[in-house]
Amino acid sequence: MSSGPDGAPAGAGHVPVSGDDARRGANGTGPSNRSAPLEIEGLVAGYGGVTALHDVTLTAGAGAITAVLGANGAGKTTLLRAVSGMIKPRRGRVLLGGHDVAGRSPEQVVRAGIAHVPEGQGVIAELTVEENLRIGMMSWPSGLGRWRAATGQQMPGGQQAAGSGRAERAAALDEAYGRFKPLSDRRRKLASTLSGGERQMLVIARALLSRPRVLLLDEPSLGLAPQIMAQVMDLVTGLSREHGLTIVLVEQNAREALAVADHGVVLNLGRIVASADASTLAADVTLRHHYLGF
Ligand code: ATP
Repeated sequence: MSSGPDGAPAGAGHVPVSGDDARRGANGTGPSNRSAPLEIEGLVAGYGGVTALHDVTLTAGAGAITAVLGANGAGKTTLLRAVSGMIKPRRGRVLLGGHDVAGRSPEQVVRAGIAHVPEGQGVIAELTVEENLRIGMMSWPSGLGRWRAATGQQMPGGQQAAGSGRAERAAALDEAYGRFKPLSDRRRKLASTLSGGERQMLVIARALLSRPRVLLLDEPSLGLAPQIMAQVMDLVTGLSREHGLTIVLVEQNAREALAVADHGVVLNLGRIVASADASTLAADVTLRHHYLGF
């Protein structure tokens, strides 16, 4: 059997997405159904003396999948980090439904409706699947304290976390388990026991629990066996087509990404060198040879 990046069997994770379970999110406990475009204008960002993004402007259409492609070091990850608040942009605007969130903290950006799934299946290995999922609900506005929301326990020092969001959270978890069946079977297991495919599923499920309008996915296929990669791409497609989620998909695997995307942009050394319909980019032989590697 093929393996995930941690050596766990990658084939164990199946990603069911079609049917009634997948559509339940449109009712409000899953990804928000309020489609919104993400407009990035003149974004400049970097690290110390390094400028990794130079005046990047692009629009991720509402409810569409926008693939961000390019070679190693092109600036793809930096773009997502600058949008999600993990690094502060030096210049430019990040408009979600017309509101500028550039320079806000990661928590504020999540609350505004942008969820970021970083590269590398970043589950917290020492927590159970369910504890990992609860972290996705920490951004919910509610009387329930953040600590309690994340852990299901009282806050230390006897503080009470007042509120009444418990039923809503339970419903959201149920919905996540309905959509991601392998996680339901393993909800009490430590995340460290999951396969690569299941971990990817877990981080996407966790991001969806923040009820985003925009989902930023950084290399979701990295390290996955081809069959599991195809399932993850099906999941991404379903989230866009069935729930109207706006998705920015960063991928090294340009061929796979363009097969599911509506639109694509190509970054090179921090600058956009092409932006077009996915099918147009996929058919451009020169672009493929120079920047996309297929
Ligand atoms: P990859 O596919 O390899 O992740 P990428 O397109 O996502 O590449 P970035 O990771 O955004 O590219 O890197 C863009 C530029 O910023 C590169 O020159 C990289 O070396 C630099 N860079 C990235 N992270 C840091 C950091 N933490 N400190 C300094 N420079 C960084």
